[in-house]
Amino acid sequence: MNGQETGALEVFLGLGSNQGDRLAHLRAAVAVLAKHPRLSVTACSRIWETEHVGPDEQDPFLNACVAVATDLAPLDLLDALKAMESAAGRLPGGHRRPRPIDLDILLYGDQVIREDRLVVPHPEWRERAFVLAPLAEIAGGRTCPDSGETIADVCAKIRRKEGPWVRLYDGGDLQGQDPGREQGGQGCFPGAISSSKA
Ligand code: AMP
Repeated sequence: MNGQETGALEVFLGLGSNQGDRLAHLRAAVAVLAKHPRLSVTACSRIWETEHVGPDEQDPFLNACVAVATDLAPLDLLDALKAMESAAGRLPGGHRRPRPIDLDILLYGDQVIREDRLVVPHPEWRERAFVLAPLAEIAGGRTCPDSGETIADVCAKIRRKEGPWVRLYDGGDLQGQDPGREQGGQGCFPGAISSSKA
């Protein structure tokens, strides 16, 4: 889809994987999004490696965000993302379980959505460094439609808190570039880097 088409809104999606070949799952998801006739991918964050958050032990995630232009209505977009998750091997009802790919709608234009199946801005991202770190890279200047703060401000707040570790991943990027490129200087945050990873 041409992002300039009338009716297309800018939407920010969160991507995560903590099962199998995580990098391949993230790249495949971006490729599937890019091929969708009613979506175009307009920006990609870097990839961050992040500690699993939850009561059980799970492998670390790779997380990233992409911006897409789409004329899909919010619930149609959610259905499309759920179909992509299933096609990638995610089992239904796998919330909080290891998953090859997780796709979330973080921001849908400036809309605030409160439906049974869909809450946007995403209900939990404000407390999640693994969402905010990549989101701030491609949407830092955007204003959260429900609070008026910028994404960069929300991200800066969480950077100052203790919490699960979040660090730039150096094994490759979403666009298929291999390791070794300059990743920039943002490093790890918040200060709590797990001892097993330090
Ligand atoms: P998850 O386990 O992350 O795939 O999410 C489980 C359920 O959360 C989905 O089946 C959705 O119906 C619901 N949900 C609510 N808000 C959102 C959102 N902003 N993005 C994605 N899923 C959402």
